[in-house]
Amino acid sequence: MTAPHPALAATDPELAALVGAEERLQAETLRLIPSENYVSRAVLEASGTVLQNKYSEGYPGRRYYEGQQNIDRIETLAVERAKALFGVDHANVQPYSGSPANLAVYLAFARPGDTVMGMALPMGGHLTHGWGVSATGTWFHGVQYGVRQDTGLIDFDQVRELALKERPKVIFCGGTALPRTIDFAAFGEIAREAGAVLVADVAHIAGLIAGGAHPSPVPHVDVVSTTTHKTLRGPRGAMLMSREEHAKALDKAVFPGLQGGPHNQTTAAVAVALHEAAQPSFRHYAHAVVANAKALAEALLARGFDLVSGGTDNHLILMDLTPKEVPGKIAAKALDRAGIVVNYNTVPYDPRKPFDPSGIRIGTPSLTSRGLGTEHMAQVAAWIDRGVAAAGAGDEDALLTVRAEVAELMAAFPAPGLPV
Ligand SMILES: *Cc1c(COP(=O)(O)O)cnc(C)c1O
Repeated sequence: MTAPHPALAATDPELAALVGAEERLQAETLRLIPSENYVSRAVLEASGTVLQNKYSEGYPGRRYYEGQQNIDRIETLAVERAKALFGVDHANVQPYSGSPANLAVYLAFARPGDTVMGMALPMGGHLTHGWGVSATGTWFHGVQYGVRQDTGLIDFDQVRELALKERPKVIFCGGTALPRTIDFAAFGEIAREAGAVLVADVAHIAGLIAGGAHPSPVPHVDVVSTTTHKTLRGPRGAMLMSREEHAKALDKAVFPGLQGGPHNQTTAAVAVALHEAAQPSFRHYAHAVVANAKALAEALLARGFDLVSGGTDNHLILMDLTPKEVPGKIAAKALDRAGIVVNYNTVPYDPRKPFDPSGIRIGTPSLTSRGLGTEHMAQVAAWIDRGVAAAGAGDEDALLTVRAEVAELMAAFPAPGLPV
């Protein structure tokens, strides 16, 4: 076998060795972090091209630099593919990542000190939805809604009451730990009543929407914000989409409002990912992600685990480990030693602190990209169960046994994009 990165290995063997170690880690482990995935070799290749050598401030046909003949066509291709895939009038593919994309939304529609509204971080929202430690919660007056304690579902009575009382300029819906379908129509009604700009931040579920496995926000919201690297399975980046009426404001906010030159190599890889997401095989992928998550949730429930909202409609499961008497962080670290990669996470109304919370968050985008199916989910649940039990008992040998079993199964399901 030839070295997968021969030039890198020759120039910087130390760095090449670290990349190689990461490739092995991603190959051997069961990666359950719901915001992660495996991109295709084609997406990786587009990300590593000479496109990164160019400066292209501006937009296609309106640049501040010459020599943009090819870059203009590449960005236009990405924009047109995004518009076709999501059924929108306008797409901006330049935001560097999800957080800067959301900052651009504030810049377009609010002024410092204005009231903005989003889901509270510990309830499953995102930092950039007006949470205190984020710039969005210090430069704006953030008001926050949550989920009901009895159901784990978004409390629309609270959303409506808060929106009408506080009259926010911008309302964000979407989040990072929401296992259930988001009712964009319900948010749309409330936003119209309150006179707010409604933003659907679909970073986690964009691939499910593209593949028809989650309803689209497009008919109900003013702006769609998304990352490109989660279920959409593209490079690390983001997009903002809207009807024509908001196109100018969003474009101005991204550049020159917030950013300089776009990352052209990323734009190219976004275009590739959008092409892949438009294929019938991606529809199959999106539905398989959800089917796997539902099967995994059932198997975990059967083993006595407590799941926030009682299960899942999408790619994500939020487990409350309180009944197992194992804190989330201890469980997450033990599972990592067992070759199962998850993250510790607050659960709604968590009595524990954010850095040491009660839950773990898992999801099925990555294992589905490797070809695991519903028939494997009972095994995955059994490993999680054994890992959590071993964490509670301090049984390191049991974790190593699980790790070997995991590596054996994963070896039979080569990861997209990784060298074989
Ligand atoms: C991941 C995520 C973001 C932020 O994306 P980054 O690329 O990490 O900045 C924003 N909003 C939501 C809902 C997310 O899940």
